Amino acid sequence: MKRVGVIGGGQLAWMMADAAQKLGVELVVQTPSEHDPAVSIAKETVFAPVDDATATEILAQKCDIITFENEFVNLQGLSLLAEQGVCFRPRLEALAPLLDKYHQRCYLRNLGLPVPEFFALEEVENLQSKIEYLGFPVVLKSRRHGYDGQGTFIIQDFATLEQKLSDETTTNTLNQSLFLLEEFVPFERELAIIAARSVEGEIVTYPVVETQQEQQVCRRVIAPAEITPNQVAEIQAIAHTLLNSLEVVGIFGIELFLGADGQVLVNEIAPRTHNSGHFSLDACETSQFEQHLRAVCGLPLGNPALQGAGAVMVNLLGYENSHSDYQNQRQKIAEIPQAHVHWYGKTESRPGRKLGHVTVLLDNQNRESAGAYANNIARTIESIWYPR
Ligand code: ADP
Repeated sequence: MKRVGVIGGGQLAWMMADAAQKLGVELVVQTPSEHDPAVSIAKETVFAPVDDATATEILAQKCDIITFENEFVNLQGLSLLAEQGVCFRPRLEALAPLLDKYHQRCYLRNLGLPVPEFFALEEVENLQSKIEYLGFPVVLKSRRHGYDGQGTFIIQDFATLEQKLSDETTTNTLNQSLFLLEEFVPFERELAIIAARSVEGEIVTYPVVETQQEQQVCRRVIAPAEITPNQVAEIQAIAHTLLNSLEVVGIFGIELFLGADGQVLVNEIAPRTHNSGHFSLDACETSQFEQHLRAVCGLPLGNPALQGAGAVMVNLLGYENSHSDYQNQRQKIAEIPQAHVHWYGKTESRPGRKLGHVTVLLDNQNRESAGAYANNIARTIESIWYPR
């Protein structure tokens, strides 16, 4: 029996529960609130914020290995623990170049992977001419702690950019070193791939999926994405290069843009299980959560292949401030054939908060007009979930 410490107790940790039980692994979670989803499935919880490295020292005393469901950690604090022999998987060196979006982009570019044009605001001497080169719209991003589009701003003109920068920096005297500016990519679709690497260096990849964002938040995922075999191979190669270069152990999610000309660019790396891989719980032989535990526990990796023809996953996002458990809507959605509803048990709903998700398995017959069929199912789910 292995004990795995998980830094972060949200839905990503909660969804490891079944796999942990199957593999005979006990989960100990570090998370601030007793209401966090994974507290109910953890053998034990260390109640502390994820960036509290002192709490992680206590977590480490209870566990064989420590892994992450949230990367907003205090790497400096954790590296002292690593020096004392605490086993982090993935290792801290694999997280270090990724936690700041500017450093992440530089790391990917240095590896020769395709990324959008970007620069750090603090490096720019003549902002106006630099922006003329990129052309509006531009995308302004907080270098750290962005998620679900928090900290990502699509900016249409120079006045708005200056306004935004002064808004964001007045509350925060640290100034422009906090931001990254990049070209707006007029993508045709957004894609993602989940990949896992084992202790021995074996890599497996899940099917490339299409992700659909609204207001920068993921709403739907369609597996597999309807792209060419060459594009699949290119994206798999990106995953291999990245995971090998970082010597990752565990699951990584890679988000990509697909241009109208077929060009693939890497948008963002998540050094953990990812929303774009939730379909794997119901649609694949080995879910991303089981795969992650297998990898970090030093077990052989499982089969990531789709078991059927495909799947569509729809996030159930909060749309109001409420304490409702939305029983009725969930029940109606569960009645859709081949639907699997996952409800994270959060006690509070807020607009945009991820409360649960639904995966509907698609059969072969449906896959003939796959994209349209998947989008229809997503619309049906959303018409039940969101108030008119
Ligand atoms: P987060 O870390 O908050 O998820 P992302 O960088 O993934 O931030 O951005 C969220 C979404 O914003 C993306 O999925 C995409 O829809 C949009 N976006 C981000 N960067 C760009 C870009 N350079 N060009 C066009 N859209 C972008």
